[in-house]
Amino acid sequence: MRILVTGGAGFIGSHLCERLVKEGHEVICLDNFFTGRRENIYHLLDDKRFELLRHDVIEPVLLEVDQIYNLACPASPIHYQYNPVKTVKTSVMGTINMLGLAKRVRARILQASTSEVYGDPEIHPQPEDYWGHVNPIGPRSCYDEGKRLAETLMMDYHRQNKVDTRIARIFNTYGPRMLEHDGRVVSNFITQALRGEELTLYGTGEQTRAFCYVDDLVEALLRLMNVGEGTDPAYDVHDPVNLGNPGEFTMRELADEVGRAAGVDIRVRHCPLPQDDPQQRKPDITRARDLLGWSPTVSLRDGLKRTVADFVERKRT
Ligand code: NAD
Ligand code: UDP
Repeated sequence: MRILVTGGAGFIGSHLCERLVKEGHEVICLDNFFTGRRENIYHLLDDKRFELLRHDVIEPVLLEVDQIYNLACPASPIHYQYNPVKTVKTSVMGTINMLGLAKRVRARILQASTSEVYGDPEIHPQPEDYWGHVNPIGPRSCYDEGKRLAETLMMDYHRQNKVDTRIARIFNTYGPRMLEHDGRVVSNFITQALRGEELTLYGTGEQTRAFCYVDDLVEALLRLMNVGEGTDPAYDVHDPVNLGNPGEFTMRELADEVGRAAGVDIRVRHCPLPQDDPQQRKPDITRARDLLGWSPTVSLRDGLKRTVADFVERKRT
């Protein structure tokens, strides 16, 4: 198949491109390089099945493809808050453009949504039918509400125009190729631990997240994209599916795990908790288990070891 991956030079996108090329597909990686890096896809540039397109998803694009993974959007709070209006445009205009393309060429399209659609959740763990608890006017809203509207667009294009859609609600994902110090907790902690700096623990450190290793997530994205209608009569494949690792950790526990993976004694420095920071988050992955036969296989301890090794290697070269 010919497959378009928007945001393909980013952290998750580059792993996805690599996997799709490995499976023998022709891959077009579209990216504006806001947070993506050439280094993430250098190793694919010589492959005749891989093509790189510098383009911004807020502008329409004409291509002939069979499938579209729409991942373009900065994911770290410091990046998506850098230019919030642009973040909204990327999620809304970008998704409209990709849906328009999918409609024109009859491609199947998967939208990378997020656990942030649940906001600071009042239900724990979060199932897909929970509507969320999101501040519409806060500093995180450009990302959260942008993604919520992207989901709305996916459902409306499906109902109105019969576009073949899939929605992945991705929970915190980590692994090799995360940007150093990109503001997300795993990359911040690893970078700080390797530099012998104090780990910046926001708030009490008692807030929780559930972390999924990137290879597990890419496997789930492929399964969701390729699951056929009617596979499980209990589920509609066009409805959102939570993708994440249900193992839940406090940020204090994560700091200790990073120290263990990096082989250093860590020291923490408490910093103010950012506004609207969710107190707890953990996916209910019943739907992914039933519909996709998927559940994560990499433990936090193993995944952190692999991620630390990648950060060390990148520091050396
Ligand atoms: P990332 O920042 O590494 O990747 C995003 C990519 O999109 C980058 O390559 C960036 O340059 C590109 N991009 C941004 N705006 C663009 C635009 N207007 N036009 C074209 N390209 C653009 O982030 P990531 O962690 O790889 O996230 C990928 C997707 O997964 C995002 O949509 C994100 O919202 C979603 N997601 C990620 C996580 C996570 O924990 N990593 C969790 C939930 C959802
Ligand atoms: N966090 C932290 N120290 C950091 C960066 C983040 O304690 O250096 C906390 C942050 O307050 C949040 C959690 O770690 O409670 C996850 O933050 P991240 O930005 O990685 O993901 P998100 O909040 O979007 O789930």
